[in-house]
Amino acid sequence: MANDNANPVAASAFDSHHPPALDVMEKCVHCGFCLATCPTYVLWGEEMDSPRGRIYLMKMASEGKAQITEQWVGHFDSCLGCVACMPACPSGVDYGWLIEETRAQIARLHHRSTLETLHRKLLFETFTKPHRLNLLRWPLFLYQKTGLQALFRASGLARILPKAVGSMDALMPSMTSVETIPAVTPALGAQRKRVGLLLGCVQRAFLSQVSAATARVLAAEGCEVVAPQEQACCGALFVHGGEEAQAQALARKLIDVLEHANVDVIITNAAGCGSSLKEYGRLLRDDPAYAPRAKAFAAKVKDVTEFLWEFSPRTERKPVRARVALHDSCHLQHAQGVRAQPRSLLKQIPGLELLEIPESPICCGSAGIYNLVQPDAADALGNRKARLIAPLKADVVVTGNPGCIFQLQSSLHRNAQRTPVLHTIQLIDASIRGKDLHSLLSNR
Ligand code: SF4
Ligand code: SF4
Repeated sequence: MANDNANPVAASAFDSHHPPALDVMEKCVHCGFCLATCPTYVLWGEEMDSPRGRIYLMKMASEGKAQITEQWVGHFDSCLGCVACMPACPSGVDYGWLIEETRAQIARLHHRSTLETLHRKLLFETFTKPHRLNLLRWPLFLYQKTGLQALFRASGLARILPKAVGSMDALMPSMTSVETIPAVTPALGAQRKRVGLLLGCVQRAFLSQVSAATARVLAAEGCEVVAPQEQACCGALFVHGGEEAQAQALARKLIDVLEHANVDVIITNAAGCGSSLKEYGRLLRDDPAYAPRAKAFAAKVKDVTEFLWEFSPRTERKPVRARVALHDSCHLQHAQGVRAQPRSLLKQIPGLELLEIPESPICCGSAGIYNLVQPDAADALGNRKARLIAPLKADVVVTGNPGCIFQLQSSLHRNAQRTPVLHTIQLIDASIRGKDLHSLLSNR
């Protein structure tokens, strides 16, 4: 007979498909060491917009004491997924895992407004499709070169239109020519490795010069560089947005393509993509046909700076006389633990003065599509970063993620700063080719 006095076990607000794990949440001892590194807590000082508060909200939902309401979802939408809280946590709470599973639950169980749903769909369906991004190049080129962009900015229209429109305009990269990355770039001199190069989506359309520089550096260091032209999106944006099924489908395709390329190492120069690629084993853990292949794939993935640092350089570095401020991308420093490597590589360049930006664990506000769906918080973080960069009087800022490049360019511009922003690999490439900063910037 049932015990009438027993507390009924409330049903979880989550569904049964990989809900955020209670045992991971219970590792949180509420010490608060993570608070100072959390960008949203730093901005607003609100407990529920801190890692500790968000874990509490997950736990409440998991125990059926909170429902997935709009307000509850808002605290997770405002999270950048930057995982700055993880290295700060003495209890080893895997917040990255928790937030991805929570977002997948939100994607399945929460009904967003029609406008919000359409906005998110538009972003996902554009930024994960290189051919669609390529189609946008000409209209955007005309928008910039005919003076329409200047007119839009001078008109003050951005203040009347939804904030997302102004953010899209502010983040728009300058439409430079596209550099073609050959399917195979032979190693210069004796071949040491055969590597696969991820071309990315946004990067392929708008920052092809970064992949071109990556291929040149790798080839100079003795790698045959294979860049399969048929490769599609890696699915990182879908993973970070909780769209699990789309992320899995793209991961399977990329595994097929790169297995066929038969490479020793898989190189990425986009930190946000790299952190997702390294997690393919977990993403496809329920798929018996792909689980072992995904694990093997993930084990081969390296950020380009991580790879070059382990791979003793054999090519001479020529001087680049410049004051260089290094911005750590969150998905490189926190998610992949790659912090020392870009610094060491930059210090190998004669004449280069490396500058540290204060508050380096704090995100610049880029975070995938965050700056397009949470523009106010992203702008506040971008402004904060710009204010910290200004006193350094750097000639250039470098970073390891295309999203950070766009976010920093737009934040510096908004704060009337002219410091250019490049990818770290572009400076290494310039050094190997004997180019100075001026010629590198004029050829962008
Ligand atoms: S992922 Fe970033 S924004 Fe989210 S709780 Fe952790 S530190 Fe804060
Ligand atoms: S540092 Fe870790 S244990 Fe401490 S409050 Fe943050 S998540 Fe919890």
